[in-house]
Amino acid sequence: MKDSRAVFSAAQINIMTQTIEAAARPATAAAPAKKPSLVGLTRAAIGDALRAVEVPERDIRMRTGQLWHWIYFHGARDFGRMSSVARPLQTRLADAYTLARPCVAAEQVSSDGTRKWLIRLDPVDARDRGAEIECVYIPESDRGTLCVSSQVGCTLTCSFCHTGTQKLVRNLTAPEIVRQLVVARDMIGDFPGMTPPTNGLLPSGEGVRAVSNIVFMGMGEPLYNVDNVADAIDVLADGEGLSLSRRRITVSTSGVVPEIPPLGGRTGAMLAISLHAVRDELRDTLVPLNKKYPIRDLIDACRNYPGLSNARRVTFEYVMLKGVNDSPAEARELVRLLKGVPAKINLIPFNPWPGAKFECSDWETIEKFSDIVFNAGDASPVRTPRGRDILAACGQLKSETEKVRARARMMGE
Ligand code: SAH
Ligand code: SF4
Repeated sequence: MKDSRAVFSAAQINIMTQTIEAAARPATAAAPAKKPSLVGLTRAAIGDALRAVEVPERDIRMRTGQLWHWIYFHGARDFGRMSSVARPLQTRLADAYTLARPCVAAEQVSSDGTRKWLIRLDPVDARDRGAEIECVYIPESDRGTLCVSSQVGCTLTCSFCHTGTQKLVRNLTAPEIVRQLVVARDMIGDFPGMTPPTNGLLPSGEGVRAVSNIVFMGMGEPLYNVDNVADAIDVLADGEGLSLSRRRITVSTSGVVPEIPPLGGRTGAMLAISLHAVRDELRDTLVPLNKKYPIRDLIDACRNYPGLSNARRVTFEYVMLKGVNDSPAEARELVRLLKGVPAKINLIPFNPWPGAKFECSDWETIEKFSDIVFNAGDASPVRTPRGRDILAACGQLKSETEKVRARARMMGE
């Protein structure tokens, strides 16, 4: 069977467990950072930062390479430890910049090792109280997958998705996207010289990296933020730094058809499509963007995605909604629809959230659906719901944290 366990989405992850005490702190607006952090910057932006502290043009390339190695290979937090950088330059850098990461406002750890972090971003201006995004780490025996966000909230309004109900929306910058991986590696002790947490369940196979895969399946629609997503992927995939394979980076879209070819051309990343319905009439209601880019156009764009082969397939995500999209006839139609497209299908059990109008399909229905797809030759694994000991659904870590804060405020803390 094809390898098909690759992707999980934050929306689908349920985690119960310990929430670290930071969550109980009342929300205070962080002061706007005086000095910018160099963490997450592209090579070009690091070059500019060096020019700004008067590093001569002839040295920019070499110095960029040095900083790159310290920041992304070593996970450096202190300019003073950059032994290949001359002391006076260390001082100039420390006077102008930091190596700070955004704050982890809350962490939830599941008994199966899944971790969900609520990351508070640095304010972009004086009025910004610091937006929050979610990031989920899913360790398995032979891989570790990090699910990252591309926006705060989402402008789209898929009717089964909690993120779509959030008001505040902005694009994440490329550094904000990259910092999610840096924070994750900090949290699981995965930079040289760090000790992994004692309760950490991490992938254990020989040569397997703690974070080997990235999926853009957290908050937001990545194809409404392609420039920053592409810049971030350049940093994530740079062989002298974080060194992720582009084939292990998957970008999930609800179907922004015109941006699919540029994504493939610019990033070489894998593509995932949130399909969820096989008829336009139904998909219009589940994924309203379908009215603009209907199923046929979407599948055509997938068929033409660069670099597809049996080994490099498009993932089609299909959330199982009871009595809505889960009939055997729809399973057969799904198989028909994807004929000729190198595809793998992920059936996702719907993850309920307060106020949601849907229920998850029964297990037998999911199995029947899965059998039809599987017998037709497409791998259709049902994503094993991770962290079934669980509380937080899509966006729920955030709402839980807000509840704790509200309680703290009421108690005058
Ligand atoms: N905006 C992008 C990526 C983020 S959503 C997209 O839509 O593809 C990541 C995945 O989680 C998508 O497949 C989305 O449809 C799915 N999802 C959203 N809410 C969900 C829920 N409540 N239960 C299960 N999956 C959900
Ligand atoms: Fe949710 Fe993705 Fe739809 Fe946005 S595009 S509302 S993140 S499923």
